[in-house]
Amino acid sequence: MINSPISNQCKMASPLEMYENKKSSSFLSVEPCIVKVNGTNNQLKQLEFDFSRIAIISVHGDPAIDFGKEEAGGQNVYVKCIGEELAKLGWKVDMFTRKVSPDQDNIVQHSPNCRTIRLEAGPVSFIPRDILFQYAPDFLQNFLDFQLKNNFLYPIIHSNYWISGWVGLQLRQIQGSRQLHTYHSLGCIKYISVDNIPEVAETRLKFEKEVLENADCIIATSPEEELHMRTYMSDKGKIEMIPCGTDTERFKAVNRNQARRLLNFKNNDKIVLYVGRFDYRKGIETLVRAVDRSKFRNDPNLKLVIGGGWTEGGSDGKEHNRIVEIVKECNLEDITVFPGQLGPSNLHLYYAAADCCVVPSHYEPFGLVPIEAMASSTPVVASNVGGLKFTIVNGQTGFLCPPKNDQAFTNAIDKILESVELRDRLAKNGVERMSKMFKWTNVCYNLTEQYNKCLKSIQDLELKV
Ligand code: UDP
Repeated sequence: MINSPISNQCKMASPLEMYENKKSSSFLSVEPCIVKVNGTNNQLKQLEFDFSRIAIISVHGDPAIDFGKEEAGGQNVYVKCIGEELAKLGWKVDMFTRKVSPDQDNIVQHSPNCRTIRLEAGPVSFIPRDILFQYAPDFLQNFLDFQLKNNFLYPIIHSNYWISGWVGLQLRQIQGSRQLHTYHSLGCIKYISVDNIPEVAETRLKFEKEVLENADCIIATSPEEELHMRTYMSDKGKIEMIPCGTDTERFKAVNRNQARRLLNFKNNDKIVLYVGRFDYRKGIETLVRAVDRSKFRNDPNLKLVIGGGWTEGGSDGKEHNRIVEIVKECNLEDITVFPGQLGPSNLHLYYAAADCCVVPSHYEPFGLVPIEAMASSTPVVASNVGGLKFTIVNGQTGFLCPPKNDQAFTNAIDKILESVELRDRLAKNGVERMSKMFKWTNVCYNLTEQYNKCLKSIQDLELKV
C-alpha cells in the first residue's frame, strides 16, 4: 500500500491570505511528497521502458464517456483528442482514468493504438473532484500493478489536472518516468472567483506548485495561463505554450442553412447559442439577461438555444433549474430551447446553425467551445478572460466583453444579429484563425516534440550508466 499524500502536508497560509498578496510568486513552501511502495519497487526494477508508449493520466476526466455533463467537459475532450491523434502519429497511447460504475468496461479500444484503461480507486462510483484526492494513492498503486502485469514501464506520463499531476510526480520518483502536465484549471485563479473555497484547496495549491517546479514540461494552453503560473505559483519549472485544438473538418461539414433545415430552424431565425456544462461559473445567467435586453427581444425569429446535459439532483441539474427560473422570470420561455446534451450527431449542426455562440464564463482556462464555434463559421461573443482573450480576436472573430456585464453582452450580440455582413466577416476570419492555429494535428506535432526531448533525456541517462 502507498502512504496517503495528505499525511505529508505542510502548514500553509489559507488560499485567501495568499491571494491578498498575489504579487508574491512563492507563497507556498512545499515539502517533497515521499511515497513508499511496499513490495513493488524491486519488481518494478526488473521492468524496462517501452519507448513507443505514452500514458495519459486523467483520473477524473474519462475520455471514453459522453461529453457535456457534470465533470465531463473540456478535459475529457482534450485527453481523447490528443490520445487519438498521437496514436495516428505512431505512438501507442493508453489513457488512464478512474472507473466510476461497475457497468463500465475496464478497457475501451478507440483505435488500434489508442485505448482508455479504467482503474479502480476507492468506491466504483462517481466522486466529485474536490473529495477525490484521498483515492489518488489507490489509483497510483493500480497503475503500478498494471505495468507489472503487462511487463513494461511507461517512459512518458502526460498528466491532466492536479490530482493526476500528483500521480505523475510519484511515477517520476518511483520509476524515473518523464512527466508532462496540463493543468486545465489553476487553483490560484479558480479560488478567486468562488465563494466557498473547498477544504482540499491548500493541498491542491501545494501540489500544483510542486508539479510546476518538478515536472519535465508543463503545457500551458494559453499565454495568460503561463503568465498566471509565473505570477501566482512559481518562477521555477519549464513551461511550453501549446494551445488546445479542434477538429476543423468535422466542424466545417455543413453550412448554416443546411444545419437549420436539419434542426427545424428557419433561414431567417436569429439564433443565439450556448454550448457547455451547467455550472454557475459558466455565466449562463449573463447570457439569458443579455438576450432579455436585446433590441430583438420581441422579434418572433429570435431564438436562444442553451445546449448541454444535466442530471436531476446533480450540481448541474441544480444550475439548470436555476437558469430555467431566470428564463421564466424574463418571460423568455417561448424563444428558449434546451436541447440537452449534444453529441456526435448534432453538436456540429447547432454550432453551424447559430448566428453567434456566446461564452459568458466568469473564468475559462482555455475554452474549447469558442474554437469549435469559430471552426463552424460562427462568431463568438465571450468574456474577456483567460484563454478566451487568446482564441478570440476582439472585432475580428467575435467580441470580448467584461464578464458578468449583461449590457456589454447585449450590445455585442445585437451587433452581430443586425448585420449579416458583419457576422459573415467575423465568421470567415474565425475559420482562418482556427485552421492556422488550433488543429489537433498541429497540437500533437508540438507535443511529440516535447515527448521526444523527454525520451532523449532518459536515453542519455541510460547511456551514461
Ligand atoms: N460538449 C459536448 N456536448 C454538450 C456540451 C459540451 O460535447 O452538450 C463539449 C464541447 O463541445 C466542448 C467541451 O464539452 O468540447 C467543453 O469544453 P470547454 O473547454 O468549453 O469547457 P469545460 O467543460 O472544460 O469547462
